[in-house]
Amino acid sequence: MGKKPKVGFYGLTGCAGDLLNIINCEDELVELFDIFEIKSFVMASSVKDESVHLDIAFVEGSVSTEKDLEDLKEIRKKSNMLVAIGHCAAFGGVQAMHLGDGKWKERYKKVYGGEKAVTLTKPMEPKPLSAYVKVDYVIPGCPISKEQFLHAAGRLLLGTVPNLYTFAVCAECKWKENECLLMKGLPCLGPLTRGGCGAICPSFGVPCIGCWGPVDEENISSEFKLLLEKGYDKEEIIRRFRIFGGSERAKKLKKLLGVKK
Ligand code: SF4
Ligand code: SF4
Repeated sequence: MGKKPKVGFYGLTGCAGDLLNIINCEDELVELFDIFEIKSFVMASSVKDESVHLDIAFVEGSVSTEKDLEDLKEIRKKSNMLVAIGHCAAFGGVQAMHLGDGKWKERYKKVYGGEKAVTLTKPMEPKPLSAYVKVDYVIPGCPISKEQFLHAAGRLLLGTVPNLYTFAVCAECKWKENECLLMKGLPCLGPLTRGGCGAICPSFGVPCIGCWGPVDEENISSEFKLLLEKGYDKEEIIRRFRIFGGSERAKKLKKLLGVKK
């Protein structure tokens, strides 16, 4: 990348937890600001130069309004590389849990009283960044972990590919020698969920709800069958699968349930 890479950090609709976690890299923050030429990071810097072309843009949040979409397209246009950070940007977040069921307007009206209730910008059905633009890399998590962010930033700085975890939460759970919660009859989604959190919930006896997003090649039919056998209600399982499942899992669920449209 030559001299100091020009970098921007942006937030669309989300809780800002990923950007906060980057600011929480307290021991490395000064170095980060030294290595990168930060051109936009409203939570951490007064520098805001949107006219420059960026080497890397890190973007958090889902596309949930027309303004989000407009901003995202602008960011994409002026960046060589776009990195989705966190579950909302990567998979849509909990706000996208019903993505693809065709009832977004109905739900929106029920909660807000109609699209006109929000006057600053027009709301849209929440979707991940990849629904609209090319995403070069994804740093998963809800929020992302400091370690994975620093690893990815370091790799990108060197011009190589970030090598993030591809295994499920169960792998980390086993390394901690936890007793499996599924064996105790609890509805743990560890087998379907991307590792990286250190299996924090099952380590405290709490079943995973999948907040790091689906692991590649997740076997939802096997987990679905297992939870049915454990006596869980079909609708309850589907709801659980949907919370952090994102659009890809919604498609797989439709196939599994034989839903045509
Ligand atoms: S407790 Fe959950 S995360 Fe741990 S091994 Fe069992 S299914 Fe996997
Ligand atoms: S819900 Fe699952 S993925 Fe999220 S922190 Fe807990 S164990 Fe990790």
